[in-house]
Amino acid sequence: MVNLDKDIQYIKGVGPSRATLLKKLGIYNLGDLITYFPREYEDRGKEKKINELIDGEEALISAFPVGRINEIHIRKNLILYKLIVRDETGTCNITWYNQAYLKNIFKQNTRYKFFGKISKKYGAPEMQSPVYETSENSKNTGKIIPIYPLTYNLSQNIIRKIIENGIKEVEGKLEETLPEYILQNYNLCDYNFAIKQIHFPDNFANFKLAKQRLVFEELFSMQLALLSLKNKYEIRKTGIIFDKSAKMIDIISKLPFKLTKAQLKVLEEIDNDMESKKPMNRLLQGDVGSGKTVVALVSAYKAVKSGYQVAVMAPTAILATQHLETFTELLKGTGIRCELLISGITKKKKEELLQKLKNGEIDILIGTHALLEENVVFNKLGLVVTDEQHRFGVRQRTTIVEKGENPDVLVMTATPIPRTLALILYGDLDISVIDELPPNRKEIKTYAVTKGMEFRVNTFISQNIEEGRQCYVVCPLVEENEEINAKSVMEIYENYKNKIFPNYKVEYLHGKMKQKEKDNIMEKFKNGDIDILISTTVIEVGVNVPNSNIMVIENAERFGLAQLHQLRGRVGRGKYQSYCILKYQGNSEIIRERMKVISSTNNGFIISEKDLKLRGTGEFFGTRQHGIPEFKIANLFEDMGTLKVIQGAVIEVLDKDPLLEKKENILLKKMVDKKFKNRIEI
Ligand code: ADP
Ligand code: MG
Repeated sequence: MVNLDKDIQYIKGVGPSRATLLKKLGIYNLGDLITYFPREYEDRGKEKKINELIDGEEALISAFPVGRINEIHIRKNLILYKLIVRDETGTCNITWYNQAYLKNIFKQNTRYKFFGKISKKYGAPEMQSPVYETSENSKNTGKIIPIYPLTYNLSQNIIRKIIENGIKEVEGKLEETLPEYILQNYNLCDYNFAIKQIHFPDNFANFKLAKQRLVFEELFSMQLALLSLKNKYEIRKTGIIFDKSAKMIDIISKLPFKLTKAQLKVLEEIDNDMESKKPMNRLLQGDVGSGKTVVALVSAYKAVKSGYQVAVMAPTAILATQHLETFTELLKGTGIRCELLISGITKKKKEELLQKLKNGEIDILIGTHALLEENVVFNKLGLVVTDEQHRFGVRQRTTIVEKGENPDVLVMTATPIPRTLALILYGDLDISVIDELPPNRKEIKTYAVTKGMEFRVNTFISQNIEEGRQCYVVCPLVEENEEINAKSVMEIYENYKNKIFPNYKVEYLHGKMKQKEKDNIMEKFKNGDIDILISTTVIEVGVNVPNSNIMVIENAERFGLAQLHQLRGRVGRGKYQSYCILKYQGNSEIIRERMKVISSTNNGFIISEKDLKLRGTGEFFGTRQHGIPEFKIANLFEDMGTLKVIQGAVIEVLDKDPLLEKKENILLKKMVDKKFKNRIEI
C-alpha cells in the first residue's frame, strides 16, 4: 500500500526548496500532490503540417531548425530570438523574447516539436514563445497536457514533472475510496484510473470519465458527511417534546396581521419538529421583509408555554433591540417575560439579568454575541433562534446550543441561495422557505444611475422628505481613502449637510462609532428626528423604519448583488412607494449587467442565482460566509445537476444504513471520518 502521508520533500524531483513552494500551494504530502488537479488542459494532440497552420489557433508542429537562432536587439532590455524551422511543407518563424539560454539549444538535423499560438504575417506563419522538445523525448507535447492552477515560482513543466513522479509512485496501488456498489450504480470509473487520467489523460473520453468520478466523489463525501452528522445528532440525542396543548394558534390569532400562507406552512413544519422527540435543526430562509421575525416569535411562544426558555441571537445590538421591541409588543398580555442582553448594558443590570435568567424568571432572552459568554446560564433552555445566520459560524451556533439539553434550533437567514446549494451548504439542517411577501407590499422601484443624474436624484430626495419621508444613503467607506476611488460616509455627510441639504437633518452612522452613539442615532432615525442617514453597510441587516422610503447606494458597483438586495430591503417596509437608487461608476459589461439584474427584479432567489453566475462560487461565498468547504474539482454552479443525483444517492445509502455500520459501507465510514477530521468543525 502506498503511503499518501509521505512528505512532499521526498518525492522525486522535489527537495527542500521546492517543497517550500509546494507547501504554499497547500501540497504537503503525496496525497495532496496527486489530488492537486489541473485547472485546464491544452490539446497538443494533433500535429499539423506547416502549410496547414491557421492564424490565431494553437498548434503542434514537428520541424527541423534552418540555421541558427538570430538575435535581434529591439531596444534596451528587449531582445528577440528568432529561429526558422521547416518541415516537408514549408517554413515557420519561431520567436521568443529575452531567453538568451535558447541560443545554443537547437541542433541542426534534429527534429523538434513546437507547440504554440500561430499568427500569420503577410501569409507567413509565426509561432510565439512555443513549448518545444525533441521528437524522441516528448513529454510536454503530443497529447492532452494538464495546466495547473497558480504555481508561484514553479513552472508548469516542473510541477507537471513532479506530479508525474508522484503518480508513478502510486500508480495502480491506490486504495479504492468508494464501495463497489456505488461505482456500479453510478457508472463510475475506479480511483486509480481516475487519478491517472485526470492528470495525464490518454484521450478526451478518459478525461471525462475521470472527472465525472472525482466530482462525484467530492460532492458525495461532503454531502454524506453533513447528512450523517445530522443522523448522528438526531439518532443519538433525544430532544424536547414540546407540549401539544401549547398551541401556536393562540398567539397567531392575536397578531395584528394575518400570517401569509408561506409563514403558516413554515410554522406547521416547525410545530411538527417541536412536538417530535428528535431535536429540531431547521434553517429558515426568507427574503428580506418576508416576515421571519414573527415566525420566530410564534415558535418562541410555544416553547415558553411548554415551560422552556428561549434564546434569540442577532448579529448586531440594533437588531437585537428591535427584536426585543417586536417581541414585547406582540406578546403583550401573554405574561411572557422578554429581556435584552447586549454588551452595552451596565454591570449591575447585567448581573441582575443573569440571576433572573438562572432562576427562570426570564422567558425569552434576546441578544447579541453577548449570549455566548460563559456566565450566561439558562434555567431551562428549550429553543435557540439565531437570526441572519451567515454572520455566525457553526461553532457559535454550537456554543449557544450547549447551554441547554438538546434544545430545538431555528436558524434564520435572509441570504437567499438556490435550494440545491442550500442543501449542500446546510446539509445538516432541514430547510424551510418563506417564498411569499406579506400582502400589499409595493415593489421597490430600483434605478441605476451615473454621475450625470446627480441633480435629479437630489431633487427627488427633497420631494420625498418634504412629504415627510426619510432617506438612507449607503457608502462603501467610512472615511476618504486616497487609494480607493469611492465615496465615504464623512465626505457625503459634509457635502449633504453643508451644501446640498442644509435645511434637513443629516446624520451619519458607521461601525467605528461607539455602540451608544450608534444606538442613539438609530433611535433618532426611527423616531423621525433624522431626515437623511448616511451610513456604511452597518444598517444592512434587519432594521425596520417603515417611514423611510429611499435608499441611495453610492458606488453600487462595489457591492455584491446579494448585498445590494439586502440593503435595498431596508426600505419598502411601510405603506409608501419606495425607491432604491444605485449610483455607479465604470462602464464595464459586467457592471452594467449587474445593475440590470438588480433593477429588474425584487426576487432575492433570482438575484442570488444570477450573482452566482456572474461571479462564480468562489467569490460568491468569499468573504462573508464561513464554514463553507472549498472544492478541489467540483464547481457548485456547473455541477448542479450532479449535485441532485448525489443527494439522492446519499439519502439512499443513509436510509438503509444511517450510521454507516454495514460491511459494504466501510469505505464510506472511513470517508466521513476523514472529512470530519479535516474540515467540518462540530
Ligand atoms: P425579515 O424576514 O426581513 O426579518 P421582518 O420579520 O422584519 O422581515 O418583517 C418585516 C415587516 O413585515 C415587519 O414590520 C413585520 O411586522 C411585517 N410582517 C410580517 N409578517 C406580516 C404579515 N403576514 N402581514 C403583514 N405584515 C407582516
Ligand atoms: Mg429579520
